[in-house]
Amino acid sequence: MTEKCGVVGVSLEARSAARPLYYALYALQHRGQESAGIVTHDGFQQHSHVEMGLVGDVFDEDDIDSLAGSAGVGHVRYPTAGSVDSSCAQPFSVSFKSGSLGLAHNGNLVNADEIRDELAGLGHAFTSDGDTEVIAHDLARNLLEEDLVRAVKRTMGRIHGSYALTISHDDTIMGVRDPLGNRPLCIGELEDGYVLASESAAIDTLDGDRVRDVRPGELVVLREDGSGFDSYQLVEEERTAHCFFEHVYFARPDSRIDGTLVYEARRELGRRLWEESGVETDVVMPVPDSGRAFASGYADGAAETTADGDPREEDDPGVEFAEGLMKNRYVGRTFIMPTQDERERAVRLKLNPIKSTIEGKTVTVIDDSIVRGTTSTQLVNLLKDCGAAEVHVRIGAPPIVAPCYMGIDMATREELIAADRSVAEIREAIGADSLAYLSHEAVAEALGESRADLCLGCVTGEYPYDIEDEATDREVDRPEIGGAPVGADD
Ligand code: SF4
Repeated sequence: MTEKCGVVGVSLEARSAARPLYYALYALQHRGQESAGIVTHDGFQQHSHVEMGLVGDVFDEDDIDSLAGSAGVGHVRYPTAGSVDSSCAQPFSVSFKSGSLGLAHNGNLVNADEIRDELAGLGHAFTSDGDTEVIAHDLARNLLEEDLVRAVKRTMGRIHGSYALTISHDDTIMGVRDPLGNRPLCIGELEDGYVLASESAAIDTLDGDRVRDVRPGELVVLREDGSGFDSYQLVEEERTAHCFFEHVYFARPDSRIDGTLVYEARRELGRRLWEESGVETDVVMPVPDSGRAFASGYADGAAETTADGDPREEDDPGVEFAEGLMKNRYVGRTFIMPTQDERERAVRLKLNPIKSTIEGKTVTVIDDSIVRGTTSTQLVNLLKDCGAAEVHVRIGAPPIVAPCYMGIDMATREELIAADRSVAEIREAIGADSLAYLSHEAVAEALGESRADLCLGCVTGEYPYDIEDEATDREVDRPEIGGAPVGADD
């Protein structure tokens, strides 16, 4: 599973925007490692530096110096739509009769092809197959006839799907969030200006204060003198569709998304996991680093009550929390290895068990999700090879049963282990003594949102947008998730 993209926009009173943008992109690097870029405007002309690679490799001192101006936008990308080459690297910058535009997009449009065909028919020439260029052309066209706010509103009325955008129109910086708020975007205040960013960790990096999230359907325009921002609620929907996976996996634990600190959300998910499916084992350990906050919350729950829900007696030692798996930080991400064989090898390279924590013990191992099942299978084997008496797996989210069409690279339906297997079948496939996932209800409660205001598409197969995918119409008989774990005797 791979994060989507990270976007940022900065408008400062007088100082150069390039360096703060560069630092902010560093803070958002986990959201995209394929390309990075910055577009600035100095009041007269636009400057751009966009390349394939990590932030630290893409920019040197000369590049930063060449990006003149106190306003700009930046982007880190993992491709979810469009080619895997520099033609789709962002921010997408272009000059039209209506002025210069720089666009940074996190998300995925579901009707980009339709709008592209229409605009191509009107004479627009496209240089990439990405949906960001479609937004740029549509907005540029609308800017010929309308003022900035109306032009953005008109474009928002035409594009469907998920988007968090930071846009430079000459030296005016804007942020836009899709009407369902699927992708995150927040506003921060700096000493001498304002910043828009996918995650608040980027604002912290700039020593700024997070002001609030951009509201679903809202346009935020940063004032050019850095004195504040103006808000326009351009589209209003009755519901939201926040991506719950931001809290489970994608966002940094130190970011606050839609009002909730990601670290606390993960601990709460872990605590509810104990309440729903706790098992009394000698030791509970996280899969590093993804399962750490979940395991901490799970262990907290286990310290207070027994697996049956009774208050724990003072002389009951409960479940020991331990780090039993060490991560090799220099191995690439498991899921970008192209073949199954390479992925399996990567898991073994990535995690090394501490034998003394595991040997002869019953072990609960906690992770945030199971995608293909490769990591979980390897992990259970690893722990059993190390002498674990029993291995119980607990997952801090419901089973992923369908792909994401909102901008996450999550593997195809055929690759997802839970797409057509029951929890009992998955338990058997990964070789665990028991397996339990968190229920949909517990996720909503832990995040403090109603189920209807979350996107749960990948765990229910029901999406907040009309998705043309015949597989989503397929009837799948899925048992209720959550509650009692599925064990070897089931
Ligand atoms: S389908 Fe899943 S990953 Fe995609 S936006 Fe919805 S909750 Fe997030």
